[in-house]
Amino acid sequence: MKYYSTNKNTPEVTLQEAVVKGLAADNGLFMPERIEKFDPEFFEKIDQLSFQEIAYEVALRFFGEDVDHEHLKEIVYDTLQFDCPVVKVTDSIYSLELFHGPTLAFKDVGARFMARLLNYFLEEKDQQVNVLVATSGDTGSAVANGFLGVEGIHVHVLYPKGKVSKIQEVQFTTLGQNITALEIEGTFDDCQHLVKMAFLDKELNEKVILTSANSINVARFLPQAFYYFNAYARLKEAGVINGKELVVSVPSGNFGNLTAGLIAAEMGLPIKQFIAANNANDVVFEYLQTGKYNPRPSVETIANAMDVGAPSNFARILDLYDHSHQLISEKIKGFRYFDEEIRKVIYEVYQQTNYLCDPHGACGFQSLTEFLKDGQIGVFLETAHPAKFTETVEDVIGKGRVRLPKKLAAFMTGEKQSIEMDSAYESFRKYLLK
Ligand SMILES: *Cc1c(COP(=O)(O)O)cnc(C)c1O
Repeated sequence: MKYYSTNKNTPEVTLQEAVVKGLAADNGLFMPERIEKFDPEFFEKIDQLSFQEIAYEVALRFFGEDVDHEHLKEIVYDTLQFDCPVVKVTDSIYSLELFHGPTLAFKDVGARFMARLLNYFLEEKDQQVNVLVATSGDTGSAVANGFLGVEGIHVHVLYPKGKVSKIQEVQFTTLGQNITALEIEGTFDDCQHLVKMAFLDKELNEKVILTSANSINVARFLPQAFYYFNAYARLKEAGVINGKELVVSVPSGNFGNLTAGLIAAEMGLPIKQFIAANNANDVVFEYLQTGKYNPRPSVETIANAMDVGAPSNFARILDLYDHSHQLISEKIKGFRYFDEEIRKVIYEVYQQTNYLCDPHGACGFQSLTEFLKDGQIGVFLETAHPAKFTETVEDVIGKGRVRLPKKLAAFMTGEKQSIEMDSAYESFRKYLLK
């Protein structure tokens, strides 16, 4: 399968090139040339398949032409060493818990898949590849842990100094080995900008091999479709679907997760409606209401993994629907929540149902309570474990109420190692050339 650039100003490339390069030569994002549909019968029996079996079927439709099937199966099964269960919260609202991986956030799925696919493509070559990743919190840890110890790959994590939570920080600053954390004086957008500049720097790219592991990489973003299919299967298995319409709400920042869901739906997965749940960073919310798209600097919120002012995957959404505002605003409904509302939702959901949302999932939950109609079932993506945001969550529900899962506690005992850097491109460039 070939991959084209959303800017359509550069020739199509192979999967291998798309994965290694990350970003297209014309600064666009790669998209698969075709989206293969499943037969409707697949969905009639999907509840008889396991998560891994479903994911492999989906992976075959993306990568089956380019990766031998034995290997692909191995990559899928090895990636999904943890479950993504669907948990009932109210009579009509379910939580798709994506926080059971090594770093307790949904990005584990894409990051682990990408590390394994990149390793597959690089295995025969004797090259050192540099993975650059800008993070507002959870990407860094997922990518660092996904790639930890993978030979021939060095990961450089750029994060905004003082703007990620302690728990997020320890997950990518304490690993050592092939992982280096760069503490940038600036915002997440500055970090993302540095990474983009490095990719566009011709001279630099002649000297070092760079690739991206942000959600722009097709090997990270497409596998996120796996758990949408599995969620449907598990709800069907539990007898919940039963002729009801499915509405899925996605707490969104860079919009990679939502785009993967849209692609799943294009493949035939019966999702009636998508919701994009935003925090105060509301560029896409505004676009959905007005048709005007005005990227701008991000603002800090308590749902900080969604603090994105210029969502990179928006280009893919535009491309998927031929830039039609009408179509996009039909497919996606927008909701926006400010910090005070998010706190209130965490509190009320906990009081009323005993379910503890993290600040991102809370946006998803609330949008469903506002949107759902009779005969519909809502699923929100619980994108991180609430313990990753203990301070915020305990502020709302009371001290000592959030239990730290073992996996997180283990990170807290490690020693922080990082390199501090200003946000000037020249500094970053010098570091990469060293
Ligand atoms: C990354 C992240 C998001 C946003 O996902 P996108 O794919 O960038 O839209 C939401 N919640 C959490 C916890 C995240 O880590």
